[in-house]
Amino acid sequence: MISRAAFACLQAANVSTFAYAGLTIANAHLLARYGTPQQIDRWVRPMLEGRYFGTMCLSEPERMLMAQKSYAEGGLALGLYAARLLDEVTTAEDETERENSRLLLEVLTPVVKSRPSQWCLEANSLAIQVHGGYGYTRDFNVEQLYRDNRLNAIHEGTHTIHGLDLLGRKVTMDSGAGLRVLLNAITAAITRAGRCSEELRAWGSALRDSAGRVAAVTDRLWSTGEPEAALANSTAYLEGVGHVVLAWIWLEQALAAEGKTGDFYDGKRAAARYFFSYELPKNAAQFDLLASLDRSMLKLSESWF
Ligand SMILES: Cc1cc2nc3c(=O)[nH]c(=O)nc-3n(C[C@H](O)[C@H](O)[C@H](O)COP(=O)(O)OP(=O)(O)OC[C@H]3O[C@@H](n4cnc5c(N)ncnc54)[C@H](O)[C@@H]3O)c2cc1C
Repeated sequence: MISRAAFACLQAANVSTFAYAGLTIANAHLLARYGTPQQIDRWVRPMLEGRYFGTMCLSEPERMLMAQKSYAEGGLALGLYAARLLDEVTTAEDETERENSRLLLEVLTPVVKSRPSQWCLEANSLAIQVHGGYGYTRDFNVEQLYRDNRLNAIHEGTHTIHGLDLLGRKVTMDSGAGLRVLLNAITAAITRAGRCSEELRAWGSALRDSAGRVAAVTDRLWSTGEPEAALANSTAYLEGVGHVVLAWIWLEQALAAEGKTGDFYDGKRAAARYFFSYELPKNAAQFDLLASLDRSMLKLSESWF
């Protein structure tokens, strides 16, 4: 029985493998007919040369690559910024600046640790997807990177604990002083963006709206006087605030790239554009949920599982 099942499985797999050639030809024709000259040059040529197979060229690779760039370079920039703050806690010239660096570092720490753990893993997942079946197998090292990085949301401190830390401690400490320093830093970037191109002004305006929601939702959550209810959706809070912080980091990078030419700076602008179009709007659903003070997860019964 087992050998017959194994044979059937292998037979099915072989049929799928044979189908790759047909899929490749079909995709090449589709691209040749409807693709842009750049897409044809980029994808049809390697397919006809036998280097790419199947559907890997039709899986929105550009969007997936830009998502990966925005997660990875955004996470790196945030980590480097946190490292600078750590220095400035002791090296900044005056006492107020040292204290503000300390407060900002405190409030950002759960985001710095959780954001790359969650979204750079998503980047690893997209790297598998971009490669299609070759990403899932061991032909490329992306599946190894996915498995390795899955650890980060556990050993860097678990995701839910970072949510509890951010909402339960960091934004309330010193009567909200840390959150105020964060919102002031975001406002300063928005003000600088207001003196730049129309696109940067639009990003600044979107960020102002989202930062306003962080302040409003934080007040609303703590207005209940019931910590258990406030913290019931603290992971959604962590992720919503994370989107806003990363949008700020991308605005800072776009500001640094303003007026500069070359692929490096064009790439930064493209990633910032991607982030403001595709990622920042995700916070609306999280802030809506938080503002509704949803308590349904506090009313579950063990027997339902
Ligand atoms: C490979 C590896 C390397 C590690 N290296 C280090 C290291 O160098 N230094 C170090 O200090 N630790 C290290 N750790 C330990 C790591 O910090 C812990 O695994 C982590 O803190 C989670 O603890 P736990 O595994 O006991 O999970 P648990 O605490 O049992 O958590 C299980 C799940 O429940 C959730 N949870 C727990 N409590 C709550 C709560 N009150 N509210 C909501 N959700 C909750 C958690 O978020 C998690 O998703 C490492 C772990 C691994 C696997």
